[in-house]
Amino acid sequence: MKVFKFGGASVNSAEAVRNMAHIVQTHMEPEPLVVVVSAMGKTTNLLEKLVPGAPTDDTAALRRQLEDYHMGIANILIPNDKELAAKVQDLLRQLDCTIDSLSPTPESYSYNYDQVVSYGELISTTILAHYLNHLGTKTLWADARQLICTDNHYREGRVDWAATGERTRGLVASTDKSCQVILTQGFIGGTPDGHTTTLGREGSDYSASILAYCLGAESITIWKDVPGFLNADPKFFSDTVKINEIPYDEAIELAYYGASVIHPKTVKPIQNMGIPLYIRSFITPDAAGSSIGNYHTISPETPLYIFRNNQILLSIYPRDYSFIAEDNLQVIFGMLNDLGIRVNLMQNSALSFSICVDNNPQLTSRLIERLKDMFRVRYNDNLQLITIRYYTQPVIDSIVAGRPILLEQRSRLTEQLIVPA
Ligand code: ASP
Ligand code: MG
Repeated sequence: MKVFKFGGASVNSAEAVRNMAHIVQTHMEPEPLVVVVSAMGKTTNLLEKLVPGAPTDDTAALRRQLEDYHMGIANILIPNDKELAAKVQDLLRQLDCTIDSLSPTPESYSYNYDQVVSYGELISTTILAHYLNHLGTKTLWADARQLICTDNHYREGRVDWAATGERTRGLVASTDKSCQVILTQGFIGGTPDGHTTTLGREGSDYSASILAYCLGAESITIWKDVPGFLNADPKFFSDTVKINEIPYDEAIELAYYGASVIHPKTVKPIQNMGIPLYIRSFITPDAAGSSIGNYHTISPETPLYIFRNNQILLSIYPRDYSFIAEDNLQVIFGMLNDLGIRVNLMQNSALSFSICVDNNPQLTSRLIERLKDMFRVRYNDNLQLITIRYYTQPVIDSIVAGRPILLEQRSRLTEQLIVPA
């Protein structure tokens, strides 16, 4: 079996959906194609603002926008289709009831988040399954809340692999022989007691990887708006190079450093099974794209750049002039773990410990507040963390472009630098 994943940008308008359906139809296999889809366009961002407890401007206007957007796409795809309109309206009503039933307390925020935000994927896949069936492609809509079994760690559900494997293989085994497409939601899952969970922002790639692993799929293809795995984000870089072949480990490293082309958790499950992952463009679907698999090195060999913006560098000094030793570090890491702050780069000396993290002001101010009891804290914000794999000195010089370097770390293959943005 093959698994396809389509992200929000590939289904963000009626025209995009037609293109996506065309790609699906031109890749039919004797076995059903498993298709994983995200919410349409920027729907997840919109739904985040409707979560009870989230700071929001005008919920009524946002709710209308959500409805108009999806009903508009549905109506262009199949004008005046009462059944499709009723399905979308029904989901919107369920969403309203869900929002009304939740209590807006800070402790229930993560739970609320998953119950609400999951509607983006539920609505997109409902429209797509209906449309594909309308076109004559026999499509089964599968509920990922019943397939991807997770614990109740809301916003970052942890997968129960055994249960997920059983459910997924069970679904495929019981699917009618005439079924051509099994279409399901990315990003969402469910707990054993029936509560919706999500797998973390941009988690649909991971969903595709989980399903591919459980089904022992032949391959995964992620359809994107870029021609493949590029050596830098084209938003920040004008002459990017497409990497044709990427070893699994390299892809994991790159995702870890912040390459946004695939979700960091995606590669591990398929690496374990030796399943290749293809990244192809939904804009030029006949072009070759990139493939992640059992390779020794990247090809072509070229420097790879990863930029993380909006970084803050915290320098932490013990108040009693004790050394920065294991006991102090344990306290600091305990706080980071409690607040769910991920360290992007760290360095220690005898009297200080420096960490570079994404600057989420709510979290970093709480961290600084907590540290103050035992430590003096100095910080620099508005920074950029640059990672260069396969660096050369001229490459570093041209990227730094004369900016002062606040911190630098170099290993055999990787150079990391913190500079003012
Ligand atoms: N819709 C979700 C998000 O935007 C999941 C995804 O797109 O992968 O984060
Ligand atoms: Mg997305």
